[in-house]
Amino acid sequence: MDQPASPLEAVRARIAQSARIAGREPEAVELVAISKTHDAAAIEPLLEAGQRVFGENRVQEAQAKWPDLRGTYPDVKLHLVGQLQSNKADDAVALFDCIHSLDRPSLVTALGKAMEKAGRQVPCFIQVDIGEEEQKGGCPIAEVPALLASAHGAGIPVVGLMCVPPAGIEAAPFFALLAKIAADNGLEQLSMGMSEDFETAVLLGATHVRVGSALFGSRT
Ligand SMILES: *Cc1c(COP(=O)(O)O)cnc(C)c1O
Repeated sequence: MDQPASPLEAVRARIAQSARIAGREPEAVELVAISKTHDAAAIEPLLEAGQRVFGENRVQEAQAKWPDLRGTYPDVKLHLVGQLQSNKADDAVALFDCIHSLDRPSLVTALGKAMEKAGRQVPCFIQVDIGEEEQKGGCPIAEVPALLASAHGAGIPVVGLMCVPPAGIEAAPFFALLAKIAADNGLEQLSMGMSEDFETAVLLGATHVRVGSALFGSRT
C-alpha cells in the first residue's frame, strides 16, 4: 500500500477502513478536526487539502481565529466540543454550526433562548457522562430522557449523543453503551472517538469522530 501523504489522508484512510469493516459507508462518518490551541498557520494546510469541518472547545478562542479563515473558506462548518457557559450561549449560537456539549437544564434554557433570539437552529448533541465520573462534564445517564424532552420543548434540535469515555481504560464498552442509550431515545447520531480510539468508535457506530492530535500533532 502507498504511504499516505499527510496525517489528514492517514486519518481519513483509517476511518474508511474501519467503516468498511463494520459494513458502513465511509461517508457516514464525519471527521471533525479539533483545532483547539492551533493557529491559522497550522489549520490552513487542512483547509487547502479540502477539510471543512473543524471543532473548537472555547468560544473566545474560536471567535479570535475563525472569522478570518471563514472569509477565505466560507463553507467551513464549526463545531463546539467543549463545556459551554450559559452566558456564552448567544456567542456560541452565532458562531457554531453544531454544539456537542449540551449537558444540563440551565444550558437548555440559555441555548433555547439564544436560538430563538437569533432565529437560528443549531443542531446539538447531548453530552453524556458515560463513565459516571463526577469531575467530567456531561448529563448523568439516568437524566438523558428528561434533558432531551426539555430540549425539544425549548425548540433545540437534538441530533444525537456525545461522550468522552474515562481515560486509561478500554473505550469500546462506553461507546457501545452510548449507542444503546441513543437508540433507546430515538437518536441517530453519535459523536464519539478521539485520536486514540476513533477506529473503535467507528466500528461501534460513530457518525462524528473528534480528532485533534492525530491531525495536528500533540498540543503543548
Ligand atoms: C481535545 C478534544 C478532542 C480531540 O482530542 P485528541 O485526543 O487530540 O484527538 C476531542 N473531543 C473533545 C471534547 C476534546 O476536548
